[in-house]
Amino acid sequence: MRDPLEILRTTFGFSGFRGVQADVVDRVLAGQHTLAVMPTGAGKSLTYQLPSQLLEGTCLVISPLIALMHDQLRAAEAVGIRAATLTSVDSNRDETIERFRGGALDLLYVAPERASGEGFRTLLSQAPLALFAIDEAHCVSEWGHDFRPDYRLLRPLLDRFPDVPRLALTATADAHTRADICEQLGIPRDGMIVAGFDRPNIRYAISPRDQTTRQIADLMADQPGPGIVYAQTRAATEKLAEALGRTGRPTRAYHAGLDPAVRARNQADFVASEDMVICATVAFGMGIDKPDVRFVAHAGLPKSIEAYYQETGRAGRDGDPAVAHLFWGADDFARARQRIAEVEPARQPGERTRLTALAALVETAGCRRAILLRHFGEDPPEACGNCDNCLNAPAAVDATVVAQKYLSAV
Ligand code: ADP
Ligand code: MG
Repeated sequence: MRDPLEILRTTFGFSGFRGVQADVVDRVLAGQHTLAVMPTGAGKSLTYQLPSQLLEGTCLVISPLIALMHDQLRAAEAVGIRAATLTSVDSNRDETIERFRGGALDLLYVAPERASGEGFRTLLSQAPLALFAIDEAHCVSEWGHDFRPDYRLLRPLLDRFPDVPRLALTATADAHTRADICEQLGIPRDGMIVAGFDRPNIRYAISPRDQTTRQIADLMADQPGPGIVYAQTRAATEKLAEALGRTGRPTRAYHAGLDPAVRARNQADFVASEDMVICATVAFGMGIDKPDVRFVAHAGLPKSIEAYYQETGRAGRDGDPAVAHLFWGADDFARARQRIAEVEPARQPGERTRLTALAALVETAGCRRAILLRHFGEDPPEACGNCDNCLNAPAAVDATVVAQKYLSAV
């Protein structure tokens, strides 16, 4: 077998593995089922792309979003990997199937509903298979923050090929969800590799909302670089983009209801810009590679700590200082509780647990980062020194003020 490090350098142009990448690649090359939990931007794709260059046969990549698949396809082809997607929007499906059967593909991207179809199962038994890579694997768990029933259909398919190694990948899964992913996909518990979650260059801040637009404009004044503002509704993204544009900064809106051409242009403008602020729903961000985002603001409560971590994680990927500021109101919690009451009963306990975890994060007087990291199973120090509570230490400040008043009164 060729040397993985050499392929890392020559094909991918990287000087070394990052974090746990090497451990994950080692397991995959050894044919062991693995769950890799690595933060957004840590380089999960490489952990199957690189083995696809070394293993005999095709690596089948299960991915939930067609748009993401096409981004990944372009990136893979750009470094000379033989890759294809098999989706409803591809016109070259016959050609792709021929290449797959003939062993002429390193990577084949498919959606879970296609992968589990009868026709596809037959095709799989006719083609050389090297690896199953299951991206966004938290989608398989009802405990995860983004359950997709189609992911549950994968297991029978995987079990038809017990000798083909499975690599499940996710950025955001708490301990409970991780265990469930292993269970659902037939991965042994000791096949789990979890990377560190800390993003020390991100300063976390959380404040009650009073005048959201002004609060975000103040944040923008402190952060001249590119920024993302997450809003709850499509209408809110447009209103915010307009209002914040009055500060003189270029702004754009982004949501799934925009004309696709406009949406694509707004995204491209943002990626190219050094000072633009994009006001978006959570539809924005997945698969976008912009390292110099200086702030992420939430104009309302995110869906879960996992979602918060993932969304704020788009700030400061270049390692330079960045800010994540969440503005919340009591009405956010009221709405969230109402939404929970409307989901199917079996999912309500999980949703309630998620909401309680969020409440603990926004209401704490202690270190925000410590709460985040503990949520992902780490054992952080009591105080990080780089979140609002550590920097302002509200209790201590109040005590001083009270003491001064008391002293000046006597
Ligand atoms: P994830 O899926 O974990 O969010 P990606 O696989 O999209 O992350 O990778 C994020 C970025 O990191 C990409 O631009 C990728 O090229 C880069 N990257 C991956 N591995 C390495 C490495 N070993 N050295 C340098 N850059 C890397
Ligand atoms: Mg990824």
